[in-house]
Amino acid sequence: MSTTFILDPGHGMSNRRRGVFDPGAVAAGVREADIAMEWTNELRSILRAAGHRVVRTRIDHHDPAPVGKRAGIARQYRGDVMVSFHCNAADGRANGTETFYRGAENRAMASALNEAVVEALGTRSRGARTERESQHARLAIMAFQPCFLIELGFIDHDGDRAKLLDADLRRRACEAIARELLSSTA
Ligand SMILES: [Zn+2]
Repeated sequence: MSTTFILDPGHGMSNRRRGVFDPGAVAAGVREADIAMEWTNELRSILRAAGHRVVRTRIDHHDPAPVGKRAGIARQYRGDVMVSFHCNAADGRANGTETFYRGAENRAMASALNEAVVEALGTRSRGARTERESQHARLAIMAFQPCFLIELGFIDHDGDRAKLLDADLRRRACEAIARELLSSTA
């Protein structure tokens, strides 16, 4: 059976304000929106090669994707599961990978996805967390379920940023994410 995966590269054109490009966090000239898109496209190619349908909430940096409309896109395309890619930023010292989810029934998958990334990248695990433990009480994207928002690492932490930009590590991490996703939807 073919599964429809909705992949959401965080930030981008018209994310928060119409006509304004939202780069997300920026550190050392690297933009969160770019990393999110690169990881989305990596995971997309792996899932498509496995015969599945993949829909992105935005396809490039010109494609307007208001944050409040992304869950609707997932519904419109009848997604089975959504994965959203983001990066954290803090004080340059905080580091690690964490994955947000909604609902106790999704905790195990959130944890599996998080550990898949942690093992591939060698980042510190900050674990699976409910959306209440995020910077926002509710995440707009979570209006679609199930949805897993992976904060891949801290873009302003030198070690994490190097890993997020490493093409081999990205490939390995996305293969591990795909394995977890496909094991649950098989
Ligand atoms: Zn973000």
